Amino acid sequence: MNAFIPFNRPFMTGKELPYIAQALAASKLSGDGAFTTKCHQALVSMTGSRRALLTPSCTAALEMAALLLDFEPGDEVIMPSFTFVSTANAFAMRGLVPVFVDICPDTLNIDPRAIEPAITSRTRCIVAVHYAGVGCDMARILAIAQRHGLAVVEDAAQAVGSRRDGHALGSIGELAALSFHDTKNISCGEGGALLINRPELADRAEILREKGTDRSRFLRGEVDKYTWQDIGSSFLPSELQAAMLLAQLEETVAITRARLGIWDRYQALLQPLEAQGLLRRPRVPADCEHNAHCYFVLLPPGIDRDAVLAQMRAEGVAATFHYVPLHSAPGGLRFGRAHGGLEVTVDSAARLVRLPLWVGLNELQQSRIADVLAAAIIRHLTVQSTPESVSA
Ligand SMILES: *Cc1c(COP(=O)(O)O)cnc(C)c1O
Repeated sequence: MNAFIPFNRPFMTGKELPYIAQALAASKLSGDGAFTTKCHQALVSMTGSRRALLTPSCTAALEMAALLLDFEPGDEVIMPSFTFVSTANAFAMRGLVPVFVDICPDTLNIDPRAIEPAITSRTRCIVAVHYAGVGCDMARILAIAQRHGLAVVEDAAQAVGSRRDGHALGSIGELAALSFHDTKNISCGEGGALLINRPELADRAEILREKGTDRSRFLRGEVDKYTWQDIGSSFLPSELQAAMLLAQLEETVAITRARLGIWDRYQALLQPLEAQGLLRRPRVPADCEHNAHCYFVLLPPGIDRDAVLAQMRAEGVAATFHYVPLHSAPGGLRFGRAHGGLEVTVDSAARLVRLPLWVGLNELQQSRIADVLAAAIIRHLTVQSTPESVSA
């Protein structure tokens, strides 16, 4: 009998336990110890960002970005509707209004052509979400931002190790947020980082992250006591998380290479299905080096995606859908607004299926996944083209 193939399986490099043991032995488990410092250095050298600060999650890093940019309640932030809740919530929490725009049909990233028509006198910021670790068209987004005096934040949660036009994703906007959640390429269970590319935001970022105090300066001996300076919260992960994260960050190149091998194999296995019109495979623009964060296909229009997923699960393959577009969710309706019809978003979100992708997934398993997917699509296409439904 074929074993069940899970959607995700966290990968361990083998260095996690020794590093966590070292952190325990150092008897300093609160944030900003030796392991956190090493993670900061690793992130700066990987990305070329000015500054990196570990956070408890990407959500927390996005919240820090919203705090740092100091907008007024009612100001608007343009972002795709096709993204994770935290992209919008971090801004909604500050009283800002997410304005949801459509995505490109090829990458499912924010469509630069949809941004300018959504700009109003209240617009302050554009959030670029690099879906599946494939970079947004940052050159066009930066040009629009410059023309209108807007900030650019990258939600690079999925994009650790990816590049566009030679630049590391996360190093391009004013600020960027990374995720080290269990489901991401590089993980410490729960974790994230804020990347700071505008140097004048760095000092304030340290203060916001340390409960609104200048404790970081105090620890460096720059002031003789630390005091309340600004608003802030506790945005530091513990040294245990940093120890686990360092073990993974040091293997970023190997992890990315292993994932790309799996991604490329799907691309080859599913080519005949695309040629038969049974699905559409992902498209990666030529100027993108991606990190194989996720492998998705788009099913033919009108097919019952949930039935396809249920059949795959029954045959032992955990494939899954992705976002419910934020503009159509209760929170999106309450806190944000859509600009335009968002046709590509609605259509793609309804047809998208993500396949298992984790280091260790083998060729045999991938062939089985491709077979199970093909059988499920063919079966449910046939179900739909019964005479009544065709004539209806
Ligand atoms: C995973 C993810 C997040 C949230 O990351 P956490 O570390 O779980 O807070 C935010 N945005 C995007 C696009 C994501 O994929």
